[in-house]
Amino acid sequence: MAEHLMCELSVPGRVGFRFPNLDVPAAPLPEGILRDDLPLPEMAEIDVVRYFTRLSQLNYGVDTGFYPLGSCTMKYNPKVNEDAARIQGFANLHPLQPIETSQGALALMYHLQEWLNEIGGFAGTSLQPAAGAQGELTGVLIIRAYHSSRSDSKRTKILIPDSAHGTNPASSAMSGLQVVELRSDERGNVDLEALREHCDDTLAGLMLTNPNTLGLFDENVEQVNRLVHEAGGLIYGDGANMNALLGIIRPGDIGIDVLHYNLHKTFSTPHGGGGPGSGPVSVVEKLVDFLPNPVVGIIEDEAEEEGVPPLYGLVAPSQTIGRVKAFQGHFGIFVRTYTYIRMHGAEGLRRVSEYAVLNANYLLSLLRDTYHIPYDRVCMHEFVAEGRWADAPDIHALDISKRLMDFNFHPPTNYFPLIVHEALMIEPTETESKETLDAFASTMIKIAEEAHTNPEILKSAPHSTPFGRLDEVKAAKELVLCCVQQYTS
Ligand SMILES: *Cc1c(COP(=O)(O)O)cnc(C)c1O
Repeated sequence: MAEHLMCELSVPGRVGFRFPNLDVPAAPLPEGILRDDLPLPEMAEIDVVRYFTRLSQLNYGVDTGFYPLGSCTMKYNPKVNEDAARIQGFANLHPLQPIETSQGALALMYHLQEWLNEIGGFAGTSLQPAAGAQGELTGVLIIRAYHSSRSDSKRTKILIPDSAHGTNPASSAMSGLQVVELRSDERGNVDLEALREHCDDTLAGLMLTNPNTLGLFDENVEQVNRLVHEAGGLIYGDGANMNALLGIIRPGDIGIDVLHYNLHKTFSTPHGGGGPGSGPVSVVEKLVDFLPNPVVGIIEDEAEEEGVPPLYGLVAPSQTIGRVKAFQGHFGIFVRTYTYIRMHGAEGLRRVSEYAVLNANYLLSLLRDTYHIPYDRVCMHEFVAEGRWADAPDIHALDISKRLMDFNFHPPTNYFPLIVHEALMIEPTETESKETLDAFASTMIKIAEEAHTNPEILKSAPHSTPFGRLDEVKAAKELVLCCVQQYTS
């Protein structure tokens, strides 16, 4: 099926809009900043509307179908969040407005900071970081600042387990620390022997993704944290996976010193396609003074007098690492997160995680007999299967994923984590019904059968999408955004 490109629909002389005749003297257009040559498609308004409406229908999102993209937590985003974010007073706020006229927004940010402290078991939070990876960079910079404030300049090494998220080594290296990879043991935990070898006075810290990218809770977490602390290092917790832990465990209570949240995963704000995220960072008491500048605080409190709300303002932490993001961060995401947390309440947040874990284990139990599970134990909110069989040697994880698209399912994450061959990382999330999980599992089982009886149908998938199998390497290296046909096979 070929899609028309906009330029192909253009008819010379056709217009979508006509300006009224000038009723003022004509003035020359500014020179030098206008292009002489701008070949825009010439189309009627209805054709433009149809073109873009059709394009939007080609897109796949959580609102159109099951999206088990492991690690990305593509849960349903309640529409009430969107209503709240569109409240005029929030949506039209200017970031340079005086604090006296933005008290509502500052109060919302203050409470969100407090709630994140409570959810994670921490003493202070900065909402500034734009996304998870920037939260990591912020957290590692805080760890560095802490050591250097104690003139502990030898600590240049950060340990990262091989089951960590890919952004962990990247953000650590960016902060200037030397990254050392730690192997996992056969149960998918941090290998304690490997850890002991590195626990010395050059250790700045360890970055722990927990649950890790195998979807497993590290059974050694308390020993890991103790060993690192005894060596004088700090523990960074990658909290992007808090979807498994809300109301069940507080990272601050088990020895994590710094943690980032992914509001756009755990707290249900739309993401994907590079849309705005938010990666607040929470810290224990001894790191509060190093948080990015500013944080929202109470600068005047006359609460003793009944009914007088406190005055919220922006406060600079005393040893701050500085600003990491323009203005206050992605405020629209804070409103959505605030709404989500208030809609659920403490009980509801705990249920979110209980169902996220239950759904993942249910799906795992349905697929375990068909797909090999390399680290097979009770999983958290996601699990990793292998997309390969010894008796179907031509089939790879990618073929299974492409075939899933024929059944209107978004593929799981492929080839990650790297420690599993042909990884299929599956995260169902708590917002999916048993019927959806059953339908996905039976499709996965059907595809496994096809892999053995009719492998060609997998190799040539997808068959039902507007474009067939793309040459992904070529598409990435020679990106052309207006002529998609070149990449179809
Ligand atoms: C998504 C994710 C990140 C990175 O978050 P971004 O917002 O994409 O930068 C980091 N760690 C884990 C475990 C994640 O799942």
